[in-house]
Amino acid sequence: MNEPKDWGFATLGVRAAESRSAEREHSPAIHLTSSFVFDNAAQAAAVFAGQEPGNVYSRFTNPTVRAFEQRLAAMEGGDSCIGTASGMSAILATFMTLLRAGDHIVASQTLFGTTINLCNNILSRFGVETSFVAPADIAAWRAALRPNTKLLFVETPNNPLTDIADIRALADVAHAAHALLIVDNCFLTPVLQQPLKLGADLVIHSATKYLDGQGRCMGGAVIGDSERVGKDVFGFMRTAGPSMSPFNAWVFLKGLETLSLRMRAHCESAHRLALWLCEQPGVEHVYYPGLPDHPQHALAQAQHGRLGDGPDAPVAYGGIVSFEVEGGREAAWRVIDATRMLSITANLGDTRTTITHPATTTHGRVPVEARARAGIKENLIRIAVGLENVEDICADLARGLRG
Ligand SMILES: *Cc1c(COP(=O)(O)O)cnc(C)c1O
Repeated sequence: MNEPKDWGFATLGVRAAESRSAEREHSPAIHLTSSFVFDNAAQAAAVFAGQEPGNVYSRFTNPTVRAFEQRLAAMEGGDSCIGTASGMSAILATFMTLLRAGDHIVASQTLFGTTINLCNNILSRFGVETSFVAPADIAAWRAALRPNTKLLFVETPNNPLTDIADIRALADVAHAAHALLIVDNCFLTPVLQQPLKLGADLVIHSATKYLDGQGRCMGGAVIGDSERVGKDVFGFMRTAGPSMSPFNAWVFLKGLETLSLRMRAHCESAHRLALWLCEQPGVEHVYYPGLPDHPQHALAQAQHGRLGDGPDAPVAYGGIVSFEVEGGREAAWRVIDATRMLSITANLGDTRTTITHPATTTHGRVPVEARARAGIKENLIRIAVGLENVEDICADLARGLRG
């Protein structure tokens, strides 16, 4: 694989793990096949046993999926990457690979709602307990550690309130306790944050979001070292099988080519939308790490990547903006229902701006007390800023705010 070490980041997204078949196609081929053929029985036996390299069966070896994995690994700065059927299957595969009954997880209390449900409703049935803490409170993470704590799990910025956790500090807390730090890097993508370089042990992606970028396919990925990911997670996937479809891998591979440009545009528009929302009557509070009153504004400045090359390029704060409106659920629903262009949907990381009421959708199945502890109120609205003109996004939101 021609992958010079000194390639710039955008080049990695376009060219890393590029390959072509004997047909010399320029756009990568899709290997939409469940199995692969052998010349003879002896070769089949050798490849199955791992004594000879080669593809066997697309549950665990597929060239299109492998190209996506290698490109994303290069972008995250990891040795190994495994593609999965969805972001949730990436998280499940990681947990099932690394945990056993009697183990304990410390996790941020403001994770993606389904990740909280996975811990509370499914892992708990297999004897794995999870403690939830405020993501930015390092002392709380330390205090929640137990002798059987194996994993720390965090999203930063998190969904939907955009809290920022200090990845370096959490890696130190984890490693002092002989535990691993896992970072769900869905919101910033490797373009703007590479958690492995900050000390994290594993990175999780929902490829469904920004990596696809157009809301078409479900997928996920786990990135880390070749022992834990390349061997152990791979082994779990081979046996349990929540694998990525080759077609979806092809869509994500193309998505990675434009990821740098798209992330820059999402962040620029989100910042402008956040500043605009701060000025609007009827808006009580705006959550965006780029605002000076955000509690981890300084941490974001230190930890996040920049929108362009050079030290003077502005810091990236992500494409998600959440805000609270005056009044309760009714007021929030009024703003949502007044929009004509924005998509009322739970997806994010799309070219099209999406608007969501977290308390009744993405976090609707999280128990009320846990939701309150996480600070997700009934008057909260989440916007995942797309690639439309930001003036049009503001105008669409203004309809419901004026009322
Ligand atoms: C969407 C999402 C997931 C789950 O990914 P799916 O592809 O929907 O399974 C996990 N973490 C975060 C932060 C997400 O936004």
